[in-house]
Amino acid sequence: MKTLQTPIEYLKGIGSNRADLLKKELGIFTYQDLINLFPNRYIDRTKYYKINELQRNSADVQIVGKVIHIKMVEQKKGKRLVATFTDGTGEMELVWFRGQKWIKDSLKLNIPYVIFGKCNWYNGFSMPHPDMELLAEHEGRIKASMQAVYPSTEKLNTKGITNKVKNKLMQNLFQESGGKFTETLSEKLIEELNLVSKTDALTNVHFPKDANSLARAQFRLKFEELFYIQLQLVRKNITRKHRIRGYPFDQVGELFNEFYANHLPFELTNAQKRVIKEIRNDLGSNAQMNRLLQGDVGSGKTIVALMTALLAIDNDFQACIMAPTEILATQHYTGIKELVKGLGVNIKLLTGSTKTAERKIIHEELENGGLNILIGTHALLEDKVQFQNLGLAIIDEQHRFGVAQRAKLWRKNEIPPHILVMTATPIPRTLAMSLYGDLDISVIDELPPGRKAIKTVHRYDSNRLKIFQFIRDEIRKGRQIYIVYPLIQESQALDYKDLMDGYESISRDFPQPEYQISIVHGKMKPADKDFEMERFVKGETQIMIATTVIEVGVNVPNASVMIIESAERFGLSQLHQLRGRVGRGAKQSYCILMTSYKLSADSKTRLETMVSTNDGFEIAEVDLKLRGPGDLMGTQQSGVLNLKIADIVKDNDILKLARHYAIQVLKEDPSLEFPENQIINYTYQLLGKHKNIWNYIS
Ligand code: ADP
Ligand code: MG
Repeated sequence: MKTLQTPIEYLKGIGSNRADLLKKELGIFTYQDLINLFPNRYIDRTKYYKINELQRNSADVQIVGKVIHIKMVEQKKGKRLVATFTDGTGEMELVWFRGQKWIKDSLKLNIPYVIFGKCNWYNGFSMPHPDMELLAEHEGRIKASMQAVYPSTEKLNTKGITNKVKNKLMQNLFQESGGKFTETLSEKLIEELNLVSKTDALTNVHFPKDANSLARAQFRLKFEELFYIQLQLVRKNITRKHRIRGYPFDQVGELFNEFYANHLPFELTNAQKRVIKEIRNDLGSNAQMNRLLQGDVGSGKTIVALMTALLAIDNDFQACIMAPTEILATQHYTGIKELVKGLGVNIKLLTGSTKTAERKIIHEELENGGLNILIGTHALLEDKVQFQNLGLAIIDEQHRFGVAQRAKLWRKNEIPPHILVMTATPIPRTLAMSLYGDLDISVIDELPPGRKAIKTVHRYDSNRLKIFQFIRDEIRKGRQIYIVYPLIQESQALDYKDLMDGYESISRDFPQPEYQISIVHGKMKPADKDFEMERFVKGETQIMIATTVIEVGVNVPNASVMIIESAERFGLSQLHQLRGRVGRGAKQSYCILMTSYKLSADSKTRLETMVSTNDGFEIAEVDLKLRGPGDLMGTQQSGVLNLKIADIVKDNDILKLARHYAIQVLKEDPSLEFPENQIINYTYQLLGKHKNIWNYIS
């Protein structure tokens, strides 16, 4: 008996070669995987065109006609196969750049074909790599008015697994399984939400009867996909709250109160107060805190982190703060040390460049409990770093740390310490809900008072002279300037050349001794980097030329201009991060995005977004739309967003609905034992067995 778990090679039409390709290219191992290969889009195959009706920009067109001539044409690289195709109203060319031999041998001359594809116009119409089917076969096939177009890869296409083949395989699968599929949602949900059955949904998503049936099929499948994700997240959250014991910080002690009363350099914003309250609630309970703190650049997360650390110390625990770069760790260290001056808190810094002698002291003090707060880079994660009693781990800029690294922090004490993850790349709420459904989220949605909005402009390279004059004016007012160059892994050598060329040209226009320039990039030794940073921080240099190493966290309130070179090459969140380096003081600050004239549509959108808003959450929304969720979160976490049919951005409403019902189901029946939830429980278990994508979270 074939089931959905049957290996794909058993399906009619699939031999071992095709099976291998499907596994490698699309991750299809079983019948189930194939049936869950959902179409990207659908094409209308009811309409036929004539060649003499084609428009220069005709998208997908379907034409009936014959091939009357075939030839191979030599080109600069390799060959292309060109077939002359006619339908009696005109002629066009069909062109293949790959797989020519196979196609040449199988093409039949002077026999009617149905061709389908995109048309190009260059001195006549042509269609590259058309979908072709003999008219006779085409007519014999069951036809859906809308034909599914499946995800594909270059390799699948060249190896002959075209869309037509995939359609055929899907038909075979439906035939072999009798076209009936086990229901995977409870009757109650189906009724309440007026959903179509699983069988109905799968049938219509692959072979839509009409647009309405397709829409209902998609709705049901998207709901189902998101529902089970939410069910897992919500459930994990519930178990964590019940099961993972945490060290209760039950007192607000002397340190915290003393700091609050006498050392706080400014009034906390309401948002900061609210967040600290949320954190205190967590810490006071008996469960482990696992909280994400979101706040735009400059919203004042550091002080929240520090006050949380003071609570830990007040309760006889140690705390650590981990940052992604040495520069940032050092800055946290100096900043926090300054803030707690006179409070008798012992703070040390541990990074890759900490000397052995100093390390030894740190290790000792950590183990005998003399050290209260350890700040550092991922050097903190090393096994040698043993705390006497770690109660709190704070992670700054979390998207740069991997899951495994965070897991290490969990194991630094007998029961896991409280975890506070801080991120300055705001994640849109919809995404956060999905990604961090099992983390509690706090948001600082208010900037400290008195900040002037940064003025952002987009300028072309040809405006450079004017910009130099502007820099001179700002420096004359006593301000400092950042000039940032892109550094992309693939073109490192070129990028360094740009950076050094830039440095030379700036040095010529801003000569010593009137002007002093710092330069910082990733190829420098840490000590040299620090030295240069230090000079800029102290105001000894007026211009800082750098690659994106300064992206994260650096705080120089006197810097008022951020110039980003080749801004079109940066991602939105990176641009926003960079801009956040200025506007930290009370002075008017500026961000100048320099580009060449050649800009892609996406680059234009990014630049326009930067010019029009300073709001990190708004920027994150645009970024998400441009890049898609997988990319946004980096490869580390893209797995979870590997959704098969739903789209976190576009299906936001369905996501909310799914979350609502997941919560409701679990509220009524936390262990899913009611008879009415049997199907849900069964499906849930099955999903857990087949893809464990949930272990990505802290
Ligand atoms: P981020 O959230 O980007 O880490 P920081 O914690 O570095 O922001 O804070 C940015 C700047 O704002 C710092 O100079 C900090 O001292 C200042 N700051 C933070 N909170 C307040 C506040 N409530 N009032 C005034 N200034 C504040
Ligand atoms: Mg910060």
